[in-house]
Amino acid sequence: MDLNYTPEQEAFRQEVRQFLQDNLPDDIRERVQKRLRFTKDMIVRWQQILYKQGWGASTWPKEFGGTGWTEVEQLIFEEECALAGAPRQLDFGLRMVAPVIMKFGNQEQKDKHLPGILDGSVWWSQGYSEPGSGSDLASLRTTAERDGDYYIVNGQKTWTTLGQHGDWIFCLVRTNKDVKAQEGISFLLIDMKTPGIDVKPIIMLDGEHEINDVFFENVKVPVENLVGEEDKGWTYAKYLLGHERTGLANVGQWKAMMRRLKEIAREEQDDGHAIIENPRFRDRLAQLDAELRALELTVLRVLTNSSGPGPEASILKIRGTEIGQRLFELAMEATGQDALAHIPDALEPDYDGPMVGGMNAVPAAGDYFNMRKLSIFGGSNEIQRNIISKLVLGL
Ligand SMILES: Cc1cc2nc3c(=O)[nH]c(=O)nc-3n(C[C@H](O)[C@H](O)[C@H](O)COP(=O)(O)OP(=O)(O)OC[C@H]3O[C@@H](n4cnc5c(N)ncnc54)[C@H](O)[C@@H]3O)c2cc1C
Repeated sequence: MDLNYTPEQEAFRQEVRQFLQDNLPDDIRERVQKRLRFTKDMIVRWQQILYKQGWGASTWPKEFGGTGWTEVEQLIFEEECALAGAPRQLDFGLRMVAPVIMKFGNQEQKDKHLPGILDGSVWWSQGYSEPGSGSDLASLRTTAERDGDYYIVNGQKTWTTLGQHGDWIFCLVRTNKDVKAQEGISFLLIDMKTPGIDVKPIIMLDGEHEINDVFFENVKVPVENLVGEEDKGWTYAKYLLGHERTGLANVGQWKAMMRRLKEIAREEQDDGHAIIENPRFRDRLAQLDAELRALELTVLRVLTNSSGPGPEASILKIRGTEIGQRLFELAMEATGQDALAHIPDALEPDYDGPMVGGMNAVPAAGDYFNMRKLSIFGGSNEIQRNIISKLVLGL
């Protein structure tokens, strides 16, 4: 097959590039490119700019307000956004709950929830994992018991990314304890302002507040918030995970990071040399660059050949996350002692300056720690290998 982009796709790339040049606000671009902390307001602002252009949801079909772009166009869009320094759009609404609502939700749910996801005004969180139920997700114990027109939800979700900003959360809940674990799970949409929900921060290795515990105590959820059929949530949950894992290959972001890493590696250090002059470092950089290019071609191959995310999603998730982690390992090596965020104020929530005083203002150590998460979330890489051995190798 021909893996070159067609003239139409190249023209599309130019159109996206021009739009980004004209419309991506400088303050947002600068923070993203320097990998500084940015705020919810910045992400919402960018989503609204895309929304006004009609590009709010690059992966959605036109009938729901999406672009209707082909998968290759979506990839080009994402890559150009990353290279220009646009913030990554949030997956929880756009790529996770929205496809489930489109496929399994009723008309009322589509009308109520999709517009807020599209314009960025409503933020979603993912309530799958629980203490003791991560890889073994089907063992989850948060219950939803039917009481008239409501479900009463009790239990705990954990590792909830950006749950502190979530307006709504989509949860897997147990509605039947008398059947096989997978057959008693339902998919429930819950307004996070409902009484009985308590969000508690978990501080990560990099000192950031990115994830949370979410507790549910007698939370009353209207039955109309059930997606699809009761006890069929496992099917919807798996459909969502396929979408999540394809996105985790993250080629555009890694290409932007590779470009930044090369800039850092070429900068002269105090001893008058740049780390790119070191043949061992240069070899590893070149190897990684080649692997990233191979990943890009594999993503293109999968997108143009397949009829939707299948077990290939697991392969892309593993490769994408391994390459991402190695990029940040090299960035840490290249920045040396400047990798440390040694400005104490930088750990304060309202801190607005550079994260390191050194040459690149790249908080490489923070990123290095943060990126450990890549091989854990979205289903750990060990679990992805199990899926490949079963579904691809037939073991
Ligand atoms: C930063 C971060 C953000 C996250 N955000 C969210 C979120 O927003 N919403 C959400 O629902 N979840 C979220 N998660 C949870 C994530 O999906 C789980 O952490 C993941 O599924 C692993 O589950 P666990 O942490 O319970 O580890 P465990 O399942 O206890 O696994 C521990 C180790 O054992 C290995 N292991 C387990 N079972 C097997 C097996 N059968 N074969 C081989 N190895 C195995 C795992 O690979 C892992 O290395 C997030 C996690 C992180 C780290």
